[in-house]
Amino acid sequence: MAWDFSTEPEFQEQLDWVEQFCRDEIEPLDLVFPGAAYSRDPKARALADPLKQQVKDHGLWALFLDKDLGGPGFGQLKLALLNEILGRYRSAPVIFGTAAPDTGNMEMLAAYGTEEQKRRWLYPLMNQEIFSAYSMTEPQGGSDPSLFLTHATRDGEEWVITGEKWFTSAGARADIIFVMCTNGMFVVPGDAPGVEIMEYPALHNHIRYNDVRVPADHLLGPEDGAKVLAQRRLGGGRIHHAMRTVAQVKLAFDIMCERALSRESHGKTIAEHQMVQEAIADSYAEINMLRLLVLWTAWTIDNSSTREARTQIAACKYTAAKVLREVSYRAMHIMGSLGTTNLTPLQAMWASAPTMAVMDGVDEVHKVTVSRNVLKGYEPHAGLWPTEYIPAKREEARKKYASLLAADPDLAAWADHAARATARGH
Ligand SMILES: Cc1cc2nc3c(=O)[nH]c(=O)nc-3n(C[C@H](O)[C@H](O)[C@H](O)COP(=O)(O)OP(=O)(O)OC[C@H]3O[C@@H](n4cnc5c(N)ncnc54)[C@H](O)[C@@H]3O)c2cc1C
Repeated sequence: MAWDFSTEPEFQEQLDWVEQFCRDEIEPLDLVFPGAAYSRDPKARALADPLKQQVKDHGLWALFLDKDLGGPGFGQLKLALLNEILGRYRSAPVIFGTAAPDTGNMEMLAAYGTEEQKRRWLYPLMNQEIFSAYSMTEPQGGSDPSLFLTHATRDGEEWVITGEKWFTSAGARADIIFVMCTNGMFVVPGDAPGVEIMEYPALHNHIRYNDVRVPADHLLGPEDGAKVLAQRRLGGGRIHHAMRTVAQVKLAFDIMCERALSRESHGKTIAEHQMVQEAIADSYAEINMLRLLVLWTAWTIDNSSTREARTQIAACKYTAAKVLREVSYRAMHIMGSLGTTNLTPLQAMWASAPTMAVMDGVDEVHKVTVSRNVLKGYEPHAGLWPTEYIPAKREEARKKYASLLAADPDLAAWADHAARATARGH
């Protein structure tokens, strides 16, 4: 029997270390020096680098990568359990070498890069010597890649990239940008002539690529292969976001439960009021539904591939957004006025729910994917009645007992009575 919800003791020890390390080292850093882990400032690096070294010493650096690429090769299920902890702490992904958007870009390089491309970009990204961004969405629309216009034209030993991208996260500070063109995925140095960063938005950049020239070997994967590379990249990114969302909603739940036991109203704790109990019970069930969906999806990826698990990944994506929205809202509500301030993590968490529903593909698109793929396992019924139409099924079943019904009037009467009784119900 292979269904097993336990964690092997050796790995549990690693989880315990990660939890304590995050609580003792990362949370204080986040509270006192927010953003230090991401900063290139030497003083900030002096604070964050020793923590990264501790992670490396424990063999937990670049958790998402296979052993041959310098990660621990945990696979997705173990990664999910780790992300359930890391997702609670803002800087944990970068301190553990697993921060987006670099992770997805590294996955693309690992899967499609030549040895030379890996040497030039993958290993420096892994060591956080350089940082990257991913330019796919365009101002005229993000949900439908067939609307994208950015393209590359071959000119001798170079490609010339022309187009406009929108919402490239951390594009302004990236050393390299992975630019999705209609005819391929290209690696563009952030300082290449013609890369124009627009003033707004500040964090997720609007970028014009004005005839940007890159050498021929900056094409990643096959020519015309951009959509396949993008799927590979985004599939991994989506499930990792869902894993970290489990951490966030567990945090909201902890806050909610503590508060329910701490406040009184009308002579009893608010935990004793039924509507608060309902909020706790619904949240408990929704968090665990999301968690099991994410773990099952991670297990499926480990036992097949990201491609095989694409329906599940899509379901994780919009379910994570929904559970985040519902649970963080309930937690805020139970916190009362304090919940509406930014003095707890809840306000920011709730405000991030619409983002979860849009980034890496809007909910609607993922729901379409799930519905379309699930329906491939079904067929329309033949004739007028649905397969589960009981009178038709009963007539069919009676054929199995035809000789018995013909021979025994009592049994025949019983069967006739049962059929009439069912029909009288409506
Ligand atoms: C925090 C964040 C970070 C991001 N980082 C990056 C990044 O690094 N690189 C990058 O390239 N992009 C990035 N994006 C962009 C993101 O991938 C796009 O926002 C997303 O693909 C949706 O595209 P859009 O914003 O153009 O919305 P649109 O495609 O205009 O969709 C808007 C709305 O229209 C409706 N809609 C659209 N299509 C359908 C449909 N098929 N069926 C039903 N309804 C539909 C939905 O209600 C949808 O919410 C990021 C987004 C966010 C929020």
